[in-house]
Amino acid sequence: DPDATTHAFQAETRRLLDIVTNSLYTDKEVFVRELVSNASDALEKCRHAHLAKGEDPGELVVAIDVDDEKRTFTISDNGLGMTADELRENLGTIARSGSKAFVDSMKDKDAEGNKDASASASSTAATNIIGKFGVGFYSSFMVSDVVDVYSSVGDGVGNKWSSAGDGTFALSKCEVGEGDGKAPKRGTKIVLHVKEKDKTIAASKWAVESTLKKYSAFVGFPVLLNGKKTNDIDALWTKKASEVSDEDAAAFYRFVGGAMDSPAFRLHFSADAPLTIRALLFAPSENPEKGFAARQLESDQSGLSLYSRRVLIQGNARGLLPPFMRWVRGVVDCEDVPLNISRESLQDSDLIRRLGDIIAKRMIKHLTEQAKKEPEKYAEWYAKLGVFLKEGICGDQSYLYKDLLVPLLRFETSAAKDEKKDDAEDKDAKKTSSKPPQSSLDEYVSRMPEDQKAIYYLVTTGGRKQAEASPYLEAMKAKGYEVLFLYAHVDEFVMQHVRKHKGKDLVSVEIADKKKKKKKKDESHTGPSLGEKEMTALCDWFATEALPGRVTGVKPSARLVGSPALLTGHEPEAMRRYRMMLTMMSD
Ligand code: ADP
Ligand code: MG
Repeated sequence: DPDATTHAFQAETRRLLDIVTNSLYTDKEVFVRELVSNASDALEKCRHAHLAKGEDPGELVVAIDVDDEKRTFTISDNGLGMTADELRENLGTIARSGSKAFVDSMKDKDAEGNKDASASASSTAATNIIGKFGVGFYSSFMVSDVVDVYSSVGDGVGNKWSSAGDGTFALSKCEVGEGDGKAPKRGTKIVLHVKEKDKTIAASKWAVESTLKKYSAFVGFPVLLNGKKTNDIDALWTKKASEVSDEDAAAFYRFVGGAMDSPAFRLHFSADAPLTIRALLFAPSENPEKGFAARQLESDQSGLSLYSRRVLIQGNARGLLPPFMRWVRGVVDCEDVPLNISRESLQDSDLIRRLGDIIAKRMIKHLTEQAKKEPEKYAEWYAKLGVFLKEGICGDQSYLYKDLLVPLLRFETSAAKDEKKDDAEDKDAKKTSSKPPQSSLDEYVSRMPEDQKAIYYLVTTGGRKQAEASPYLEAMKAKGYEVLFLYAHVDEFVMQHVRKHKGKDLVSVEIADKKKKKKKKDESHTGPSLGEKEMTALCDWFATEALPGRVTGVKPSARLVGSPALLTGHEPEAMRRYRMMLTMMSD
C-alpha cells in the first residue's frame, strides 16, 4: 500500500514480541482466549455506551472464521472499533499490566545469567508463564507470520494496521464493508495469517472449537465459529445456585478472576431488599497477590465485575469493597445501579458503598458459616488468606467490620494439641496431620476455667517448639490456663486492636507476668538456694564475663518455675511497634 505509514513499536513492546514469537510455548492456543476477550470487551463498551444513551446497540456478536486452505484465522466484532490514532496507541504500546509484569519477569530471568542464549533461554522460561499472564493482543504473533487489523468506529472510515511482529507496523486507510481487506461498518476484524507449522492449532476448526470450549465458554455474547454458535450465553449468576455445577463455577471463577487456581469457597446469592442483587462470589484458594500470576489491584479497586441487568458497568469495580476484601472475585449484578452513571460518580456514590457493604458482610458471614461446617478446610484457607482479615481488623478505623472479623481469627494454643489426641494416638496422629488444630477466640473462652480472668497470648517467631519451651508459659501452665500462640508479630498487632473479646482482656503473658511482679514487690527476689550477695555476684558475672555487650543487664527474678533464665525487655516499645508494622507490610 503506497499510502501506508510505517511506525516502530515501543521498545518494551518489541521485546515482548521477541519473546512471544520465539517462544516454544506449548499452549499457543491461548491467543484465542486473548482475542475473544478483547472482542468481548469492545462489545461490552459498545453495549454500555448505547444503553446509557437509551439507544439499542443491536445484536452484538463475536464471529470467528477459520480457513485451513488459506491458513487464516479471522475474528470480527461489531463493538466500539478503533480510529487510526487508537490503533497506533493501543496496538503499538503495552498498556496491559499483565504484559508489563510478564516482560519484567523475563528481564529478571535474563538477569539471572542466561545472557548467552538469550532467545532460547527466554523461550524456555516463557514456556511456563505466557499462559499464566496472558500477553493480550500480542499473543497472536505466536502463531502468525502477519497480523492484519481492520477497524472502524462507525463513521464510514476504515483503518488498517498490519505487522509481521518484527519491530514495525504499518497504518493505512481501507474500505468499510464486507469482504477481504475491508473494515466492518462498526467494530474490528483481525486476520491472522497463520504460520505453516501452527496451522493445526490456529487454522483448524476442530482445534479452535475445543479451545473456545476451554477458555471462552462464559463470554456474555454469542461466539460464532464458521457461522455456528459455540457458547451458552446465559449469565451464570442469574441462575439458581443449585443449577450451577462446581465445575462450571470453578471455570467461571477462573474466567472472571483471571485466576489459575480453584475457588476455596463460593457464595451465590440473591436479594431483593434493600437492593436487588444477584451475585456469584468466590474466595480464592491461593493468595492472589502471591506467586507467578500475582496481581496487585489499585487501592480502591475490587476483584468484582459490577453489572446492572447483565450489562457490564465496570470491571474491577472501584470503591465497591473495603480494601481488605480485595481478594474476593466474581460478579455482582445490581439492578439499582443506573446504566448511565459515570465512572467518577460511581466511585463515590452512596449506592455503591451500600452495595459494597452488603456484599462484604454477606461474604464474611459465609466464611463464618463455612468455618463452622468445615473447620479444617477453613484453617487451610486461613493460613493463606487470613492475612487480609487481620488487615481488616487493624485497618478498619470505622469499626464497621472488626466485630464480624474477630470470630474468624484462628490461633494455635498451648492446649490444642493434647486436647484432641491421646498420648497413645499421638504417633499416628503426627503421621497423618502434621498441623496442630487451630482455635478461635470463642472456643478458647469456652474452655477457660472460672478463675481465669483474661485471654493470654504468647508471641514467638520460633514456632510451636519455641512457644512450648517458653519460660513465660510455665506460670500459666501451673495455673491450668491455656495460652494462644502467636507466630507473627502482626498477630500481636491484631491483639492490640481487638483488645477485648467476650468481656475478657487480651493480655500478653509477658505483661501479665510484669503486673504480677509489681504486686509481689515485697517478696523475695532471690531464688531458693542463693543469698542476695551470691545472686548479685552471679548476675554481675553473667553481665560482664559470660555475656559482655550482649545484654544490657542481668537481674534476679522470682517469676521462673523450671527455667534458669529468661530474656526480657529487649527493645523499647516504640521500636518494637515499628518493627511489627514492617513485618506486617512485608508479610
Ligand atoms: P488489554 O485487553 O489487557 O487492554 P490487549 O493487548 O489485549 O490488552 O489489547 C490492547 C488494547 O487494544 C486494548 O486495551 C484495546 O484498547 C485495544 N483492542 C484490542 N482488541 C480490540 C478490539 N477487538 N476492539 C477494540 N479495541 C481493541
Ligand atoms: Mg486483552
